[in-house]
Amino acid sequence: MGKHILVTGGAGFIGSHLTRRLLGRGDQVTVLDDFNDFYDPARKRANIEPFLDNSAYKLVEGDIRDETLVDELFRDSGFDGVVHLAARAGVRPSLQEPILYEDTNCIGTLRLLEAARAHGPEIFIFGSSSSVYGINKKVPFSEADEVNQPISPYATTKRAGELLCYNYSHLYGLRTACLRFFTVYGPAQRPEMAIHKFTDILARGETIPLFGDGGSRRDYTYIDDIIDGVVATLDLAPDFEILNLGGAETTALSDLVQWLADELGVEPKIEVLPDQPGDVPITYADVTKAKALVGYSPKVPIREGLKRFVEWYRDQPA
Ligand code: NAD
Repeated sequence: MGKHILVTGGAGFIGSHLTRRLLGRGDQVTVLDDFNDFYDPARKRANIEPFLDNSAYKLVEGDIRDETLVDELFRDSGFDGVVHLAARAGVRPSLQEPILYEDTNCIGTLRLLEAARAHGPEIFIFGSSSSVYGINKKVPFSEADEVNQPISPYATTKRAGELLCYNYSHLYGLRTACLRFFTVYGPAQRPEMAIHKFTDILARGETIPLFGDGGSRRDYTYIDDIIDGVVATLDLAPDFEILNLGGAETTALSDLVQWLADELGVEPKIEVLPDQPGDVPITYADVTKAKALVGYSPKVPIREGLKRFVEWYRDQPA
């Protein structure tokens, strides 16, 4: 029999892909999501629409910070696993609303951990971020590297979430795993993220504002690879682990724009702007540990992933 998994933030980009995979293999999925307007909630409604008729799927609309709702949900559902993806995401907006980020990402995580302590799922997975590495001089980034200098409120909340997970593992024997996602992309990617945003701008024939000189580098990870890593970690249910889930290759921003333009068949117009505070110059995942522990091995190279993204994009209603 399949397991019953709670996916917080399950109406979002990563959560809806995870839902599809879990339902597909026979698990039961409950989603807790508040459909906030960080981006158009209609996109989140569209993400979950395919699941609404599935009897193994349940949607709970609410806030992870709602103590009563969360406690009762855990008590009544008896989850086997939790994948906690609900968060305020994104580096730049966290500089505008640091209190909201802290409240959602830290207090929200703590509420879920408290309910998990009381009602005991087998495993609690926390969606962390490569941003915890800050300006790490050493590449690729390894889980053994120091992460004491995050450079944005968002990154700080993600590191705090990891530390809270460690507390609950140590104090209460709650099995927890923190997965550091490196810039995830693919169909239904959040609209404000670079690949989606640039595609919108290129498709409209407008000019791309490029922060920095285009030399900043990101490790982009195709969504299916991320989901492979999440599901394998759910199944392993380690006592406590932190794992990088990345594409394990790094791409210059200027190349990313050119390759997207190639896929769309357009010439990119670019305006170079100063670096954005909070942005890191490079991300690059060492995935040796995830490979050893959960057999993680990213399969979709960036150019293939961009092709798939643009195919999805072209299929969207205008
Ligand atoms: P997303 O914004 O598409 O999904 C997050 C979902 O959480 C949204 O549907 C939102 O409505 C929900 N949510 C937010 N606050 C909530 C609250 N208080 N209560 C209930 N639901 C709430 O983002 P995503 O890109 O799918 O990211 C999912 C997770 O992965 C986040 O924790 C994010 O920080 C993390 N992450 C994402 C990336 C990436 O590249 N996409 C990289 C690193 C880490």
